[in-house]
Parts: sequence; C-alpha cells; structure tokens
Amino acid sequence: MHRPLFLNGFMGVGKSTVGRQVAQAASRPFIDMDERLESRFGMTIAEYFARHGETAFRAAERAELESLLASAPRSTEPPVIAVGGGAMLARALRLRALDTAVVVTLETEAEEIARRAVAQGGRPLLDTPDALGRTRELLELRANSYAEAHARVSTGGRPPETIAREVLEIWKRDPIAVAAGQYSYSVEVGRGIGAARAPALVGRASSVMVVTDANVAPLHASTLKQSLLAAGNVHAEFVLTPGEQHKNIESIRAIWQKLQDTGADRRSVCVGLGGGVVTDMTGFTASSWLRGVRWVGLPTTLLAMVDASTGGKTGVDFGPAKNAIGAFWQPSGVICDIALEATEPARNYVSALAEVVKTALIGDPEMLDLLERESDRVVAREPDLVEELVRRSVRVKARIVSQDERESGLRAVLNLGHTVGHALEAIGGYDRLTHGEAISLGLVAALRLGVRRGVTPSALEERIVRLLVTLGLPTDLSREPVLEAAELLAHDKKKAGKKLRFIFALDAGRVETSDLDLTELHDSVRKLAS
Ligand code: NAD
Repeated sequence: MHRPLFLNGFMGVGKSTVGRQVAQAASRPFIDMDERLESRFGMTIAEYFARHGETAFRAAERAELESLLASAPRSTEPPVIAVGGGAMLARALRLRALDTAVVVTLETEAEEIARRAVAQGGRPLLDTPDALGRTRELLELRANSYAEAHARVSTGGRPPETIAREVLEIWKRDPIAVAAGQYSYSVEVGRGIGAARAPALVGRASSVMVVTDANVAPLHASTLKQSLLAAGNVHAEFVLTPGEQHKNIESIRAIWQKLQDTGADRRSVCVGLGGGVVTDMTGFTASSWLRGVRWVGLPTTLLAMVDASTGGKTGVDFGPAKNAIGAFWQPSGVICDIALEATEPARNYVSALAEVVKTALIGDPEMLDLLERESDRVVAREPDLVEELVRRSVRVKARIVSQDERESGLRAVLNLGHTVGHALEAIGGYDRLTHGEAISLGLVAALRLGVRRGVTPSALEERIVRLLVTLGLPTDLSREPVLEAAELLAHDKKKAGKKLRFIFALDAGRVETSDLDLTELHDSVRKLAS
C-alpha cells in the first residue's frame, strides 16, 4: 500500500473505529482528522463551531486535508486517515485526494447516523430537534461527494472487524478512481485477477450478458463464465465477429435481440470481454438497453486497457463515420488483467504503445523516462512493465476524465496526435494503418507543427520520434499521404472559416489547446509534406 488510505463518509458511520482496526492490521499509523483539529484548536469541534461558526471550521478542515495531501507522497509508511465528514466536499480537493490516496466511503442508514448522533452528542450539525430530517438533508446534499471514491462500503449492522478486512483488501488492490458523481467507479489493474474479481464488480444482477468476440472467446471466456457461474450469476454470451467493420448498429441489434430472448431486465449487467471494439459496443448496448443498464469492462488489448475501456465513451461506427453513434455511459467497474493481454496480436500491442507515449506526453513525464529506459522490456512485453504502463496510463486518463467527463474542455487534450492521425487512418481505409500507427504519425505531425509554431521545443520532437522508432512505430511522414490528409481536414466547404481545436505539446507532461483556423491548419499540414 504505497498510497494513504482515506476513510470518508458522514459523521457517525464508524470511520475512526474501522480506521484504527485497518491501521492495526496493516501495521500503519492512524490519523483521526477530527482529533487533530481538536488538538490544534485546543477545544472540541462543537466548541469551535459555537465560537467561530461552520465557515471557519470548514476552512480549517480543508487546510488540514491540504497539509495531509502535501505530505502523502513523502510518507514511507502511508497512514490510514479518518477524514472529517465535510473535508472533501470541495471537488478540486476531492479529486486531489482521489489521485493521491485510496478513498473508501463508509455508509450507513440515515436512521442509524441520527440515532448515534443523538446518543453520543457533540455533533453541532445534528444538534436540532429533527436530527433524522437534517441527516437526510445533508446526505442528499453530499451524495455526489461521498459517491466519488475508490469504493463504498456499507457499515450498517456489520461488525467493525469484517468491515476493516474488506477495506484493507480494497487498499491492497490500489484501484484507480474515475470520479463521475453517482456514476463513479474504479479501474483495477493486476495480473490474473479478471475472472476472480468479475463477480464482485458485477454485483447484484438478475442476469449477466457476456459480450466478447470470436478471437477472444476461445482464449479467455470460459474462466470468466465459470467464475460468474460459481458466484450464482446466470449468464448468457454473445460472440461478435471480430473487427472494426463489425462495429456497427447491426451488431448492436443482434446483441439487443439476445438480451430480449434471454429476458434481460433493468437489473441485468453487460460484461465486455475484448478489445476496444468489444468494450465500445458493450458499453453502448448497456447505455441503450431499457434506457440504461450497468456494464463492466474486461479489456483484453493494451489499447482497450490504456484508453477505450475507461472514460465512458461508447458507440459504433456509422458508414465511414467512426464512432458516430454513441453515448457517454460509464461502466460500473473495469478490470485490466494483464494476463488477458498476453495473447493479443503483436502488431496490435505495439500500435497501442503510441497511445501510451501520447498519454505520457500529456500527463506523466516519469512514464516517458520509463519508456525510454526500459524500451527493450516494453517491446518484449514484460508483464511487470506492461502492468506499470497500464496503471500509469489509466491514472492520467482517469484524472482528466474526472475533471471533464463530457469533453467540454480539458478532456480534448487526450486527442493529442489525433487530428492528422485520424485523417491518415481514414485515407488508409482503416486497414492500411492500425489506429495506433496512425496516432504515432499524428504525434509526429503535432510535434512538428508545434516546433514550426514556436511552442514545442525541437529537442522534445526529436526525443519522441526516437522513442516511437525504438518501440517499432512508424514516424516517417514523407512516406505518408500528407497532402491528402490536409485536404481531408479542410475539405468540407461548410467548415470554411471554422476553427478546429488542436493540441500542442509544450514539454513532457505539458500540453496546450489552441483553436486553429481550418485554412491555417490546412496550409501548415501541407507544409509537413515538404
Ligand atoms: P480490437 O478490439 O479490434 O482488437 C484487435 C484484434 O485483436 C481483434 O481481432 C480482436 O479479436 C483481437 N483480440 C483482442 N484481444 C485479444 C487477445 N487478448 N488475444 C487475442 N486476440 C485478441 O482493437 P483495439 O485496438 O483493442 O480497439 C480499437 C477500438 O477501440 C476502435 O474501435 C476505437 O474506436 C476504440 N477506442 C475507443 C476509445 C474510447 O474512449 N471509447 C478509445 C480508444 C479507442
């Protein structure tokens, strides 16, 4: 456990009791934030409230959390921290906590909370004649803030030692959180964990539809199905014909039909076992069946692990338009089992490394160093290293998606290298180049455009090109139909005078979004050919 454990939740849910037990079991220090504040104030929280008011208390609470977060990365023995019930209400601070620590929300019924508050006293927020009504009101107000966690654990009527064991296991798994209000979820990364963890992520379900494809099914479906069966999940299976050309509404229609034939209802859960084509379609099926059911992602390719399965973009192609029909529909959990990826075709694996390089460039300079230092082991697909790359890439993506789930701003940075990359991919009819190969070339184009504009250092461009070549990815734009790509980008007359959002790399881990005039982009891309 190399990150601290934060126990969040409403007052009186048992954070201190459970926290002490987890810390003891893990031989880690325990910090009770409320106790710390009381000793800092030199008075009880109730007294502080009475003297200085809630606003002053919240400010003190936030300052305490800030200082705990600042010290977390330096801690050799990351502690267990029972967080004050209102400390993580500010979203920016909560997102920092989700990135720096493993956050588990403890939950119990409003009646139980109110009963304890009245019995124990010292809870100024509930010091009213209608403690239960006030509790319900506050729980409602704070619902999103408590939902944004790595996991939620119910404490009502359960012995603290059982809860502590469950929390400790979550901490050990070191999941990555995607914060999306009530639709928040975790991504678990490990080796050989897929089948074993799937039933827990599926949770309570009336039935389970496993969606996979004909390449993946014979390799990986049976262990998953056995595990679901052992957990009592009644399941059906839909095996898709592999390939992007089958990522269309006809395939979705066939899955809907199977859902109907098997009597799937609103409590059914879809499980996507496969590459990005499968997870995109599983997510879309789930988003549309009976106005939305839950789904769980078990990606089996590096691309699906580092990109497709996290973030909730689901959909299908419509004729030549990639991903034209779809929905934002977050999974209720994702398991990146590195053992599943080991059988993916080599060209697919290498292609996905382009997205890993892109992700490092956007938000993880240390991963860029790692890719350079360990390039031989990366190319050899050493599982430890693949696991580290997946973990780091998902963390960057989760951080960005958590800030901008619907791509209204920041999330666009994930499109670094995609503008020219997509154009080259389309010109190649989606089969000359893989998506990753196109992104590799698109990254080179974006870096070169940045250098010409004076925003990207040429040393960075040289560095990334060297790395992409070492990893076995294409970088030679002179062999590519760049002029055609320029025309494709600007061809639509309706777009004349319009702007296109373009991402420039400023440094390792630092990017900038600029709105470029289409004519300017067209001319700049044309110049890349010379
Ligand atoms: P893919 O799903 O087509 O898989 C590639 C090939 O590998 C297929 O033939 C598949 O059957 C096979 N395969 C998959 N896993 C295997 C395994 N473990 N062993 C053996 N064979 C295996 O391609 P992909 O690269 O995983 O994903 C590409 C798709 O992802 C595209 O449709 C793209 O639009 C989508 N995508 C979505 C997002 C998103 O945010 N939703 C992001 C990036 C890409």
